[in-house]
Amino acid sequence: MPVNAETFEQQASYDIIIAGAGCAGLSLLYSILNNPKLKDTQILVLDKSLQKSNDRTWCFWEQGKGVFENLVCKHWEHISVHKNSFATTLSTAPFVYKMIQGEDFYNFVISFAKNFPNVHWREVTVLTMENQDGKVLVEWDGGKAIGNKVFSSVLSQEKLFQISKLKLSAPFLWQHFKGLLVEFDTPVFNETEARLMDFNVDQKNATAFMYLLPLTNKKALVEYTLFSKELLSASEYDIEITTYLSKNYPNLQYQIVHEEIGAIPMTSHQFAKDQGNIFVIGTLGNAVKSSTGYAFHFIQEQVKQIVTQLGNGHAIQTSVHSSRHAFYDAVLLYILDQNLMEGSEIFKSIFEKNKAATIFKFLSNTSSIWEDIKIMRSLPTSIFLPAAIKVLLRRA
Ligand SMILES: Cc1cc2nc3c(=O)[nH]c(=O)nc-3n(C[C@H](O)[C@H](O)[C@H](O)COP(=O)(O)OP(=O)(O)OC[C@H]3O[C@@H](n4cnc5c(N)ncnc54)[C@H](O)[C@@H]3O)c2cc1C
Repeated sequence: MPVNAETFEQQASYDIIIAGAGCAGLSLLYSILNNPKLKDTQILVLDKSLQKSNDRTWCFWEQGKGVFENLVCKHWEHISVHKNSFATTLSTAPFVYKMIQGEDFYNFVISFAKNFPNVHWREVTVLTMENQDGKVLVEWDGGKAIGNKVFSSVLSQEKLFQISKLKLSAPFLWQHFKGLLVEFDTPVFNETEARLMDFNVDQKNATAFMYLLPLTNKKALVEYTLFSKELLSASEYDIEITTYLSKNYPNLQYQIVHEEIGAIPMTSHQFAKDQGNIFVIGTLGNAVKSSTGYAFHFIQEQVKQIVTQLGNGHAIQTSVHSSRHAFYDAVLLYILDQNLMEGSEIFKSIFEKNKAATIFKFLSNTSSIWEDIKIMRSLPTSIFLPAAIKVLLRRA
C-alpha cells in the first residue's frame, strides 16, 4: 500500500522499532542500549500503555548473576514439591531461583532508556505492520513510522483467546492463576524455601497446585495455578487460596497486600513467524516454554541472541527452543492434554527421581541427551513412548 503522507502525520524513520514495551520489548531495548555497537541506533518504542503497574512477578532460575540481578527482590536456594504424604525439598544448586517484580523491571528499564536521546517513545496502539521495499511500515491510530527492522511482541489477550478456540494441530492449554500477596501477623513461612508445587489442592479435573513464594517469614505470594483448557472466575481462585491458607495456617490472621492474575498459553502452536524485517519476540515469538509456561529466562535468551546477531550484522533468527527440547515439550503437553497421566503424578515423579539442577537444565533446554533420558525415565514408558510416537507422527 503506498504511503499517503497527507492523511497521516509526517512519518519518521528509525533503525529499529520495538512494538510492545513489556518484558520482551524492554529487555531487548535494554540489551541494545548496553551494546557499544548498537547503543546509538535510532529506536522507536511503541506501546498502548507506558504507564506500567506491578501487574506480574517473574520467577526464573539462573546460575550466577544475570542481566537484571540488581532487580532481584528475593531468591531461594531450596524448592519443594508436595503431593499427599509425599514432600521433597531439593537444593537448587548450582542454580538460584529468583524473583523480580514487574514494576521494578519496567521502572528500571524505562528510566535507564530515558537517558538516551536516540530512544523515542509513543503511547499508541499498533494497528498494522507491513514490509515495504526492504523496510517496515508500522501504523497506529493517526500515525505511522518506517523502521529498518521491527521487533514485535504485540499480542493481546483477546487474540490469544481467539487462537485457543481454533481447531489447532497442537494442543493448547492455559497456565492460569491468581496470586495473593498475603502478610500474616506472626511468622508462619520458611522463607528459605520456595514451594514450587503443592498438589494438595482441588485438582478441578486439571493439573492444579499452590505455588507459594515466601518473601519473609510472615509474607508470601500464594498462587493457585492450573494447567487446563478453561479459565476460572477470579472468585474461584480466591476460594482455593483462602481454603489453603486456613488449612495450612489455621486460626491465624493475615492481610492481602497485593493481587495478580494471569493466563499464559501452553502450546507448540506457532503464533507468528518472522517475516521480512518484522521479527516476533516474547510470547508472540513463542518464547514461552510450552510445557511449563516459564518465559522470562527464554525471553532473555532470545534477546541475547538477537542483539548478538544485530551487533554482528548477521541475519536475525528469533527461535529459542531447540527442536529436541520443543519435541519433549510437545510430548509432555500431549500427555497433559489427553489426560494420559495426572499432571500431579508426572511432576511428583520427576521431582522424586531427579536433582533440581537436572530438572532446571531440562526445563531450560540446556540438558544433555543423557540428562534428558534420566528425566524421561521418571515417567512410565507405557505412557511416554506412545505419546512420543503420536507427536512424531503428527509432525511428519
Ligand atoms: C501475571 C503473570 C505472571 C507471570 N509470571 C511468570 C514467571 O514467574 N516466570 C516466567 O518465566 N514467566 C512468567 N509469566 C509469563 C511471561 O514471562 C510474561 O507473560 C511476559 O510478560 C511475556 O512478555 P511479552 O513481552 O511477550 O508480553 P508482555 O510483557 O505482555 O508485553 C506485551 C506488550 O505489548 C503491549 N501491546 C499489546 N498489544 C499492543 C498494541 N496493539 N499496540 C501497542 N502495544 C501493545 C502491551 O501493552 C505490553 O506492554 C507471567 C505472566 C503473567 C501474565
